[in-house]
Amino acid sequence: MSTKITNSATSWVEVPSNSDFPIQNIPFGTFKTSSLSPRVGIAIGEQVLDLKALFDLGYLNNIGFDSEDFDTCFLNNMMRKGKSGSRKLRERIFELLEKSNDELQSKPEDIAKVLLTQGEVEMLLPIDSRDYTDFYSSEQHAFNVGCLFRDPENALLPNWKHIPVGYHGRASSIIPSGQEIVRPKGQKKPPTDSIPSFGQSNLLDFELETVFFTFQGKPLGETITTAEADDYIFGMALFNDWSARDIQGWEYVPLGPFLGKSFASSVSPWIVTIDALEQFRTAGPIQEPKVLPYLEYEGDKHIDINLDVIIKPENGDENVVGRSNYKYMYWNMNQQLAHHSINGCNIGLGDAMGSGTISGPNEGQYGSMLEISWKGTKPFKMSDGTERKFLQDGDTVIMRGNCQNDEIRIGFGEVSTKILPAK
Ligand code: MN
Repeated sequence: MSTKITNSATSWVEVPSNSDFPIQNIPFGTFKTSSLSPRVGIAIGEQVLDLKALFDLGYLNNIGFDSEDFDTCFLNNMMRKGKSGSRKLRERIFELLEKSNDELQSKPEDIAKVLLTQGEVEMLLPIDSRDYTDFYSSEQHAFNVGCLFRDPENALLPNWKHIPVGYHGRASSIIPSGQEIVRPKGQKKPPTDSIPSFGQSNLLDFELETVFFTFQGKPLGETITTAEADDYIFGMALFNDWSARDIQGWEYVPLGPFLGKSFASSVSPWIVTIDALEQFRTAGPIQEPKVLPYLEYEGDKHIDINLDVIIKPENGDENVVGRSNYKYMYWNMNQQLAHHSINGCNIGLGDAMGSGTISGPNEGQYGSMLEISWKGTKPFKMSDGTERKFLQDGDTVIMRGNCQNDEIRIGFGEVSTKILPAK
């Protein structure tokens, strides 16, 4: 029998009304404390529910999980149980946290062992990704970049509305929220110079993205269709796909992004499942020209996720520099996954798939400093009187995201990263 997660349900664990993590969310992450080894948990209100401790106490028996699924620093083991496994697990956790159920609620000595406040845990990188692909799927972003580097008449390249353009990124430099980055150095050649030079990147930028992680896909030679894609997607997180625009601009021809991208990408700690996001599905844009049959899809496959990007200068206040939404994507996750595997490319457990920078149609909705400052020609005015064309040392970049309707809010928390000076 399966438990239905309803919007009207409440938990016996206190959840503030503006929380990202009501009982309907149940996002997965990994954490440790000074006394607890790395383990799997879920967020509820301002607490973390320790799934290792919960399993050890016998609350997660008979739903197909083992101790090693929770007694680990990554979600990968747990994800081997696939969509049906993670769904069963979420439903069991919902049951235990729901107000009318007193299995756990009535045992204060057990509650003390399984609930921790979020402030006392250190969140870890949630998933060990062997492969990372980054797409380029927001039309406004691709259009803006085309205007900045080519001309508005030919802003989108001829392939853009036919292919979810992407490249293979560096999985091993995906870092958890809270880990600082060092300003990269590299080779650059500004248009005004005749020869390249070496030095620190002066055009350091964020990219406001989401990322989705896959369950074990199909082996080499097989293809995942747009209709099958939902079964292979575990969940989503916020993703800051750092870019050194000056390094990138010189190196990218003809093989694409390399050292201007590979120094870091930051991910938020809680993976929000597609099941939790389902009620925020929305229609995508009408795709004209018509896409090839393998990219056609049925139903609403976009998701209405509000996204904010913030710059917080050293010892300063937060400045919201962009406010976008995941629904502005031209290509959805199902199309991305179908395209990724159409050549028979294998999709692995825990693969990370970045959306590409997500920019909305209006100024104020852009997802990178490149666009916000229009390549440095329109500096952003900060509340402390300073200006930003690109990012400065000591700046912390924070991204937040949530889905909201009349009944509930399903949030992602945040990804926050501070920039240290070049070495
Ligand atoms: Mn990117």
